[in-house]
Amino acid sequence: MVENCKNCETEVTQNYCPNCGHPAILKRIDGHYILHEIRNVLNFEKGILFTIRELTINPGKNIKDFLNENRNRLVKPIVFLIVASLIYTVFNNFFNIEDGYINYSDNKESATLTIFKWVQGNYGYANIIMALFIGLWLKLFFRKHQYNFFEILILLCFVMGIGMLIYTVFGIVQGLTDIKLMQAGAIVGFIYTTYAVGQFFDKRKLLSYVKALFAYLLGMLTFSLSAIAIGTIIDLTIQK
Ligand SMILES: [Zn+2]
Repeated sequence: MVENCKNCETEVTQNYCPNCGHPAILKRIDGHYILHEIRNVLNFEKGILFTIRELTINPGKNIKDFLNENRNRLVKPIVFLIVASLIYTVFNNFFNIEDGYINYSDNKESATLTIFKWVQGNYGYANIIMALFIGLWLKLFFRKHQYNFFEILILLCFVMGIGMLIYTVFGIVQGLTDIKLMQAGAIVGFIYTTYAVGQFFDKRKLLSYVKALFAYLLGMLTFSLSAIAIGTIIDLTIQK
């Protein structure tokens, strides 16, 4: 009796597929599977804690390794950014981290306000959109490097994910101590981003870090300006 692999359709006559190594019969999910999966996520060898450690100690090299050599060591970058943003959002709601930092001067409803409120409530997706803007500036500033736009996006997913976790840590400390710390957190976030992106492109050149910082600032600025422009256009269209 010949069966085909459930993963790649190759004919399988043994316990494992000769082409892709997928087992011929999947074991049923049981307690071991659950424990194994939890251990994998928290694993210091792979998993999310390992990813955080590697991206903190040596971001440039680890992200380059992910792009060029091994994609199994770190967790998936887009998922990482969304999960990190989600963690921030949960703690932000719990501790009201952003209270007293972002105040909307007039309470008149406008499309621009709605857009910024959406950003505030959906950091996961907003960060990905912001990464598109920052990525364009990075691609422009580092156009002599081999990395394409999508590889730069992967870099940004990792770096911005750690950025969100930095804000989370500062936010938790602020929530527990009542000391206003988010501005300090933002500065640490900026330093980390500049350091990580600069190191990724060329860790020996000062210019690399300068370009990283400006790409990040310009990316945020153009992202905000686009949001304001879109909001204004919507408002003007509705009002007439
Ligand atoms: Zn197969």
